[in-house]
Amino acid sequence: MGWDRVIGQERVKHMLASAIASDRVAHAWLFYGPAGSGKRAAALAFAQALQCRERFDGTVCGACPGCHKVPRMVHPDVHILIPHANDAVLQELGARVALLAESPYAVIDYTRRPSLDGAGGASNKQVSYLLGQVQEELRAPMSYRPVEGSWRIAILTHAQSMRTESANAFLKLLEEPGKNTVFILLAERLDQVLPTIMSRCQQVRFTPLDAVEIAEGLEREGLAPPDMAAVLARMADGSYEQARELAMSTELRSSRDFVLDFLRHAFKASGDDMMTRVDELAAQGRESIKFHLLVLLGLIRDLLLFTEAGKDAPIVNLDWQEVLTKFAAGLPHARLDTMAEAVEHTMYMVERNVNQRTALAHLATTLSRSMRGDIQVEAIPRLR
Ligand SMILES: [Zn+2]
Repeated sequence: MGWDRVIGQERVKHMLASAIASDRVAHAWLFYGPAGSGKRAAALAFAQALQCRERFDGTVCGACPGCHKVPRMVHPDVHILIPHANDAVLQELGARVALLAESPYAVIDYTRRPSLDGAGGASNKQVSYLLGQVQEELRAPMSYRPVEGSWRIAILTHAQSMRTESANAFLKLLEEPGKNTVFILLAERLDQVLPTIMSRCQQVRFTPLDAVEIAEGLEREGLAPPDMAAVLARMADGSYEQARELAMSTELRSSRDFVLDFLRHAFKASGDDMMTRVDELAAQGRESIKFHLLVLLGLIRDLLLFTEAGKDAPIVNLDWQEVLTKFAAGLPHARLDTMAEAVEHTMYMVERNVNQRTALAHLATTLSRSMRGDIQVEAIPRLR
């Protein structure tokens, strides 16, 4: 509970706790840094430390009503806002926020979790903070006296999703802050937030987490055994949110098998058989294709590292030592850098909704030739 739930970010935790201890709590904060680095977790821990009725030095007692209610997302003076689409089912907002009681790293936003029952998968739907939302969910509750805590706290996830109208309304709130109100804005990059808003906030930078911190977190939550936690942590690219999603998905294991099989068939390069694999992959839809390509890229990068540094290489797929050894020995002329570039290019194309089958067929051909060390790998053409 409290600061313990925040993975890594020791510098930030210390700084926020000191702000409370020295009675220098700014009325507006902007936490910025990559997705999954723990901005929301830190904001909630900060809120708990502010609402703790027993401690006033930035720590938490863990037993008072404040300490009990904030992490369970039921404190009447702590508001979490999520940007949403015009037609979002508003009852669902509460259910999304409630997910944070289980873990402050749960994926709750509408872009990455379009529906509550379906995990993963992304949506292209535009979400934003609507003017009404700023007025009803923010201005009204933040202008009363705290109900039972010492502070009124609002946490705005994805603060970059404010359009001009809502941003102006929000700016007014920031300019005339009520007593004992704290706004915590979360954004991935500083330049996503309007300068007029940014300049009124105390800025706190979050850095990507390192793999060891992520692996420890997964083990502590019981989401993965040590060996798998290490693999997932390296795949997660500094994001604990991503690591949790990977750990909870059944997709990863099957994807790793599929990708290895895809490479084997690309190497054999027997026309029809390869196209069957390509069709199989193309039929899975954009998000799934992107996921498989990410896993494939991880495997190729591992091979690159492995051929350069041998067994001590900092590879992602730690449990694939044998696979990598065989691959490196069997294909000494493979052009791994070309293979990695081809996968990255295909990811770029798939993201932009090109004809997926064509892009994947081209990838298979390039992989096939590159594995044989074929010098005549044609330049990757532009696909329409
Ligand atoms: Zn307490």
